[in-house]
Amino acid sequence: MSNKTLLTNLDIVTLDKNETIQQNASIMIEDGLITKIFDSNNLENKKNSIDCTGKIAMPGLVNAHCHSPMNMVRGWAEDLPFVEWLEAIWVAESGITPDDVYWAASLAAAEMIKSGTIAYNDKYFYMNKIADVVKESGMKAALTWTVFGMGENTEVGEGLHETIDWIKSLEDHPNIKTYIGPHSPYLCPENFIRQCINIALELKKGLHLHVAETQEQVHQSIERYNLRPVQHLDSLGAFDLPDSTVAAHTLHADQRDLQILAQKNVLIPHCPITYMKLAMPFPSLQKSLDADIQICLGTDGPGSNSDMDMFAVIRQTALVHKHLSNDPTILSGDTLLRMATKTGSKTIGMQNHGTIKVGAPADLILINMDAPHLKPTHNLVANIINCVKGSDVSDTMVNGKWLMRNRVLQTLDEEKILYEANKRSLNVVNRGKKQLRHYTH
Ligand SMILES: [Zn+2]
Repeated sequence: MSNKTLLTNLDIVTLDKNETIQQNASIMIEDGLITKIFDSNNLENKKNSIDCTGKIAMPGLVNAHCHSPMNMVRGWAEDLPFVEWLEAIWVAESGITPDDVYWAASLAAAEMIKSGTIAYNDKYFYMNKIADVVKESGMKAALTWTVFGMGENTEVGEGLHETIDWIKSLEDHPNIKTYIGPHSPYLCPENFIRQCINIALELKKGLHLHVAETQEQVHQSIERYNLRPVQHLDSLGAFDLPDSTVAAHTLHADQRDLQILAQKNVLIPHCPITYMKLAMPFPSLQKSLDADIQICLGTDGPGSNSDMDMFAVIRQTALVHKHLSNDPTILSGDTLLRMATKTGSKTIGMQNHGTIKVGAPADLILINMDAPHLKPTHNLVANIINCVKGSDVSDTMVNGKWLMRNRVLQTLDEEKILYEANKRSLNVVNRGKKQLRHYTH
């Protein structure tokens, strides 16, 4: 017997090429796929249908760069400059255990599902524990075990070679993709990046790393290699791998860098709330957009962001870039929604995501629009970008399966997760006493 769900009486922000918004429509979902979209007035049999009056449907959001268990240090290293913040976080993280990661990642999954995120690109330690959370939650994810290669005792948990078996163990998982994860070209020695590239070639993977977050990192790269970070990585072959490479942030790119990033289809997650909170100067996205770079959106870790609400990221991205470029016409229409869905889904390796259409996987969210801050609806897309908050998401579905119904999690035990994650996070920061590595070495 097929597994059928029929949603009726909703407006659909399809995000198709024509920017179609279907009004009072119904969506039939069978065996995880959208099989029919039709006018609710033509509904013949209401039996077993779910009335969604007052709600809209849109493709679920994709968080293209995060460190989900860093909610452990949410609010712990506040009001610090970037380098001091990073080193303070590393001390706290020196005491984490695999179980801490499991509960923190569960907390993050609960937060993401409750704010409309259906998939995420996560980079942290003890990723085997995060893989368990992905499987239990029903979300989709790309996972990267972060490694540093800065010498003995600088890794958390496994080093590069020890993670290979874990990567191989997930080879056939339908909802999880993996990357090779050197932290960054500014921390990892060149030889270590080369080793990562060789392993990526061998395992048919891409890399997920941090690139050019500050001007100082660009200067450091020119001093060391006589090349800017993007050109240095390109010269090593980091963008010529069997799978795509995710170069998180890449805020400081010159014209040549942009050409390389565009030509090699590098995916660039942009996380402006972190940049603003840590007061990291960054240029407008305008040049990158003009160069057709694939920019997606992420929250970064909740140690810096400090939450994982992608609707906040969407709104803040619009605001900061209109402000920085002194041009209110940029990032117009549904551009940001596409960055937060279709482009982001490329980091997860998802097929056919980003449009609500027949044949696509039913990875969607419902938003309750009956709220004072969402009326009137002169422009539905503008209301989503500027007014919707994660807490307005009422229902979250992945592959046709409900992960949340009417604000209640269906796959995770929220009460237990809140209790365990909170208790453990308080212990973690007290346990962490070691400075595992320094920013400059
Ligand atoms: Zn990051």
